Amino acid sequence: MSNTDQTINQSTITEDVVRPTHVEVNLSRLRDNFNAIRNHVDPAKIMPILKANAYGHGMVRIAQLMEELGADYIGVAVLEEGILLRQSGIQMPILVTGGILGNQVPHFIEYDLTITASSIVKLEQIEEAALAMGKQAKVHLKIDTGMERIGVHYYSAESLLEKAASCKHMQVEGVFSHFARSEETDLSYTRLQLERFLETLSYYDKRGIEPPPLKHIANSGAILQMPETYLDMVRPGIMLYGVYPAEETQRTIEVKPALSWKSRVVYFKVIKPDHPVGYGSNWQSDHPIRAVTIPVGYGDGYFRSMSNKAKVLIRGNTYPVVGTISMDQIVANIEDGSAYNNDEVLLIGEIEGKNIRCEDLSEWAGTIPYEILTNINTRVPRIYISE
Ligand SMILES: *Cc1c(COP(=O)(O)O)cnc(C)c1O
Repeated sequence: MSNTDQTINQSTITEDVVRPTHVEVNLSRLRDNFNAIRNHVDPAKIMPILKANAYGHGMVRIAQLMEELGADYIGVAVLEEGILLRQSGIQMPILVTGGILGNQVPHFIEYDLTITASSIVKLEQIEEAALAMGKQAKVHLKIDTGMERIGVHYYSAESLLEKAASCKHMQVEGVFSHFARSEETDLSYTRLQLERFLETLSYYDKRGIEPPPLKHIANSGAILQMPETYLDMVRPGIMLYGVYPAEETQRTIEVKPALSWKSRVVYFKVIKPDHPVGYGSNWQSDHPIRAVTIPVGYGDGYFRSMSNKAKVLIRGNTYPVVGTISMDQIVANIEDGSAYNNDEVLLIGEIEGKNIRCEDLSEWAGTIPYEILTNINTRVPRIYISE
């Protein structure tokens, strides 16, 4: 499922009929994380990154919270995410950080979304559309300092900055770049990228031109590890949700996970020896076991690659998921433990000092925490709580 589908199909199910498998988002945790970041980066502004359904937390609700908390800007990746936020009543500035196509430009202008301009051709397309609509477009220029995705190369950025300064139908409000390796222990490449970015920005000084007010480059890794990258504004993504970008990243700001993924036992049985569990019959016990079935699967974003690796928490006990993960169901081996229909199951979360973190799931699945969070899809209702 694409990010766009995720953000547009927000579940509207109410709490009393909620699917037993659901995500619980703790808004107090998000507020604490936001305030911890704000205190640490002050006086830099903050642009929380809410792309991909706010890393699975539910984009619209999180945007409302960020507006309440006084965030300065919101960052999303694609046009449709920005439009959905506007249609949901979000009024704060929104930057769409991804690449654009010429035919999208009028929609950006119509919905007052800030456009990422990464080449002279794009600037011309924006200028033309804004002129035709009789409006001013809002633009941030994107400089590629070492990722080779979008953006004008740092070594040929001058012509873009010059062109932008001559455009009359746009307000060039920002210049930004993005780090490739800021979560690592070795920060030499990140330092090099910062140097390239600052060198690019020195154009304004050299020409005696007032630079755009928002120069920004810091993602979570840089916020945690390199204060000299804060400039005018920082762009926290994963750390806002209480997850560190990597195990090796220094934890200079304390943040706590806001998301729990919960389900319930829907079936209990005893499995005899030599009776395999699931598709492919690739797991069986040599002795009788008790087992429970839980209504979650790879169709929800509980990755099939975690088969025979994942664990769940039931009644404060950790139990292994056995057999191949199906689209809609998993089976946990509780051996001689006890569990009953309707018992709560934690897929991600903490109870009685025990926890399963999204980092654990990413390890079992052979991926990174980002991919776990952004793949919990719209079939899973989001419930919001405050402590
Ligand atoms: C995703 C993204 C971020 C946030 O990255 P984290 O590592 O989650 O903090 C910041 N800036 C841009 C342009 C992004 O695409």
